[in-house]
Amino acid sequence: MEDASGMLLTGGDGQRFRFDAGTLCLEFLLSGAVEPWELLREPADLAAWAPLTRLGIEGPVTVGPGDLTAARRLRAAIWRLAVRSAGAEGVPGVPAPIEDPPADRALGRDAAGGTEDDLRVLNAAASAPPPVPVIGAGRERGWAYPVTGSQFLSAVARDAIDLFSGPRAGRVRMCAGVNCHLIFLDTSRPGARRWCSMSRCGNRQKLRTRRS
Ligand SMILES: [Zn+2]
Repeated sequence: MEDASGMLLTGGDGQRFRFDAGTLCLEFLLSGAVEPWELLREPADLAAWAPLTRLGIEGPVTVGPGDLTAARRLRAAIWRLAVRSAGAEGVPGVPAPIEDPPADRALGRDAAGGTEDDLRVLNAAASAPPPVPVIGAGRERGWAYPVTGSQFLSAVARDAIDLFSGPRAGRVRMCAGVNCHLIFLDTSRPGARRWCSMSRCGNRQKLRTRRS
């Protein structure tokens, strides 16, 4: 079912495919955790990107001047924690995250790449109020608008805290495809999901196996 939900992505070769990251904080990495995929270049980009996520934001998002930097810092922290959870920190070719401002975090981190700093970044973002849920006249669920950038980042950070502090952290995977660094939460029952998408890396592997 993973091809029926998630975000529509375009690969470096132009192929369009659906990718389900499985949870909000890993979905957030798709905003450009690594080069050359950066989609958050100015504050308006964050406001435009937030409604694409599984949060279901259908109204306006207002973004303040500090939100872009906060977003990229939070995203970099989630990337490192996710790479580590996926056991991919030693895998050759795994890119370093885009960070803004550039890394001045040489101090205080351990060699494996999961850092106290990253946890602090999560905690700081989560300490802001999250989006406020509302119920409409037709019993439909929505959010109080506008959703602010800091509310959105708080929702992402809270999801990350849930993920990395619990048993689901063991289900964080990096796609097994060659040069594919998409990270997802394996929500399948057997926990055997290997690919970002069957129609992308799953298919390539099938072709490769058939050829050899
Ligand atoms: Zn893949």
